[in-house]
Amino acid sequence: MDNSPPNDSDIYKTLLESTKAIPWKIDWASKQFSYIGPQIEPLLGWAPSSWQSVEDWVNRIHEEDRERVFNFCVQQSLQGLDHEADYRALTATGDFVWIRDVVHVIRAPSGEPEALIGFMFDISERKKTEEQLLIMQRKLEELSYKDGLTGVANRRMFDTVLEREWLEARQHQQPLSLIMIDIDYFKQFNDFYGHLQGDEVLKQVAQAGVRAKDFFARFGGEEFALILPETNDVSASKIAERCRNLVFKEQIPHAKSEVSQILTISVGAGSITPSQTDDLKTFVESVDALMYQAKRNGRNRIEVKSI
Ligand code: GH3
Ligand code: MG
Ligand code: MG
Repeated sequence: MDNSPPNDSDIYKTLLESTKAIPWKIDWASKQFSYIGPQIEPLLGWAPSSWQSVEDWVNRIHEEDRERVFNFCVQQSLQGLDHEADYRALTATGDFVWIRDVVHVIRAPSGEPEALIGFMFDISERKKTEEQLLIMQRKLEELSYKDGLTGVANRRMFDTVLEREWLEARQHQQPLSLIMIDIDYFKQFNDFYGHLQGDEVLKQVAQAGVRAKDFFARFGGEEFALILPETNDVSASKIAERCRNLVFKEQIPHAKSEVSQILTISVGAGSITPSQTDDLKTFVESVDALMYQAKRNGRNRIEVKSI
């Protein structure tokens, strides 16, 4: 059997034109295509005869990719470096297809590029997968900072934001206020109306809290919190009172509450301009204690203190 390599150029041509990758060749001096595989037409809709000059290629690159890809390819080619570039190619119907162009630079003995040869690959499927992964990743990030029931920021997000604001307040010696909210007699609410109805109320209270327009989070169970940067005790007191009102205005019936026929909240609000020796955890505990103070003083009320 004859094992010598085939030297019939028709064989190479047939092989090249039967692959999924689209072969092409550009003459460097004239900037003209000397060849492009016929597979280009089924992919992009442009006939091989319409690929005349480098311009034809450049004009069919998505305008957001054009400059980056063109400059990169020219730079690499001038240095005689093989390279690859991903971009969106315009189709004859006005859509775009993600292409990966893999380029080999043929150099003249002088070192100057003589021609570029390459393959274009259709990578739209891969890009679609990548985009889906990115969307899923964003969703996951969002989920990990969102409370599943109410959709407001969760405890993890609360901790992150509070830590950041604490450092800011300490550095710039600005007051920082924290408001802690706890629903009154919520156990009785659940016992009487059922847990599912309780969940609905948590959502409703969260929606009311979001209207306070500051950073609002579900702290845990039936407790919520507001972080108020650059806010002193006077302003915090007003915002705490507004929260109490917002929830009361929802007019959620609570037949088993011992303070009202309507669902109410107790609120603790503390303000601090943190010094180097102050401790964030102690501050949170102090505000929590203010909220319990409001409970002891009769519920459906606010307690405010400069700490
Ligand atoms: P207080 O006025 O002293 O705050 O009384 P309370 O009944 O609200 O307080 P307690 O801490 O005794 O009970 C809190 C209740 O909140 C008990 C728990 O079942 C309920 N709770 C916590 N998380 C959820 C939740 O996600 N959904 C529902 N439906 N209830 C919850
Ligand atoms: Mg509680
Ligand atoms: Mg409670």
